Amino acid sequence: MMLLMHSDFPHRAPGRVWAHTGQPFEAREYDVLVLGAGRMGTLCAHALRQLAPALSVLLVEAGGLPNEDGATLLAPGVWTALDVPAPRHAEARWVRAQLETAFGDVSFQTRPLIDLHATPGAQRRPSRDLNLDPAMVDPAALPWATVDEQAATYRPGALALNAAQAAIRLGADLLLNTRAHLHGPGRVRLERLTVTNTHRVVVHETHHVAAQTIVVALGADGPGAAEHDLGVHTTHARAYRQSPRVNVPSQDTTPLLRAHGLTLRPQHGGYTVIPPIHHRDPAGYVPAGGRLTGVPTGLRRETLEDLVAAMESLPALGTAALETGHSASDVPGAWLALPAGDPHAPPQHEEVAPHVHLLLGGPHADTLGPATAHDLAATIAGLPDRPWHAR
Ligand code: ADP
Repeated sequence: MMLLMHSDFPHRAPGRVWAHTGQPFEAREYDVLVLGAGRMGTLCAHALRQLAPALSVLLVEAGGLPNEDGATLLAPGVWTALDVPAPRHAEARWVRAQLETAFGDVSFQTRPLIDLHATPGAQRRPSRDLNLDPAMVDPAALPWATVDEQAATYRPGALALNAAQAAIRLGADLLLNTRAHLHGPGRVRLERLTVTNTHRVVVHETHHVAAQTIVVALGADGPGAAEHDLGVHTTHARAYRQSPRVNVPSQDTTPLLRAHGLTLRPQHGGYTVIPPIHHRDPAGYVPAGGRLTGVPTGLRRETLEDLVAAMESLPALGTAALETGHSASDVPGAWLALPAGDPHAPPQHEEVAPHVHLLLGGPHADTLGPATAHDLAATIAGLPDRPWHAR
C-alpha cells in the first residue's frame, strides 16, 4: 500500500488580485513573472501552478482581462486539425479535450468544417450533397468538399478568463492595468495605473520586481519588447487581421465553411469572415482602410482583394450583407504575432535570453496555443513528459 504524505497535498491558498486603488501593491520577489494575460499568458500561468506548485507566479496585464485590444478576444475560436501538420496531431487532440472539459464554460461546440474546392481530390465529396445555404456557397463554382467532422468552435476570451481564474485559485497573483518593461534578464519594471474610487484621478506608480524566470506573453508586442528591452534580435513578426461580419442568417448547428483560404464562422446569428494572412506587416504599418470601386471601406486593401477573388463562389461576399465599414475602426481587427514571420507557423516558445522565454500564439493558437503554453510551463518546471504523449 502506498502511503500518502502530507507534502503530497501542498496547501494552496488562492493568489491575490490587484485591480483598483485601495489595493496597494508591494513588490516582492517571484519565481516566475508571466507578462501579458491573453490566452497564452493565462494558460501558461495556470499550467505552472499545476505542474510546479512550489514556484510563485505573478501574472501582469496592461489592460483588463482579457484585454480588448489583444488577439485573444477577437480570435476566431476555431479548432480544426486541417491546420495542423501530422506530427502535431496528438497535441491538437489534447487541446480539443482540454477545451471540452478543463476550463469550465468556453461555449465549446463540435461543428463540422466544410473545406470547399473547385477541383476533385482525395477524400473530396460532391458539395451538392451537403445542403449548403446557396446565399453562402455556389456549389457549381465549388463542387468538391472535404469535411472535418471533429472541428469545433469556442470563445478564446472565455478561455483566457477561466484560465486566469483557475490560476488564481491555485495561488498565482494577478496585477491588472500595469504595463511591464523588461529590464534585462530577471528584472521587470512595472508601470501601474489606477483610478481613485471617484474615477477621477489616475495614480501612476512604478515598481521593480525581480524573478528567476520571465515569460513574455505579450502577443504581437512580444518580439518587439524582447528586441527593444533586451537587445536580442528575433525573426518573429506581426500582422493585422480584420474580421468583418456577413449578415446572412446562421444557426447554432450551421457548419463552418472554408474556401479560397477564407474561413466563415457562424457567429451571433450571422457569419464572421476570417481572412487568410499572406505575409508579415512592415514595421510601422498602421491599420488603414482601402477602396472598393472608388468607395472608401474599413477593410484593408489586401483583405478586399481576397474577398473580391472569392465573391463568385461565395455570393454573400458580393452583397450588402458584407459589412465593409467606412474606416478601419468600423471593422473588428487585431494584431497577431507571426512566429518566425510565417503566417502558417504554429505557436511556439523560445528562450531569448537566460530564463526569459518568449511565448507566441499567432494564427494557429486556436488549435495549438494551449499545448504550447503547457509545454513552456513544463519546460520551466523541468518536467520531461508531455500529456499528449501519454499512452
Ligand atoms: P496571445 O494570444 O499571445 O495571448 P494577446 O494579444 O491576446 O495574445 O495577449 C497579449 C496580452 O499582453 C494583451 O492582453 C495585452 O494587453 C498584453 N500586453 C501587451 N503589452 C504589454 C505590456 N507591456 N505589459 C503588460 N501587458 C501587455
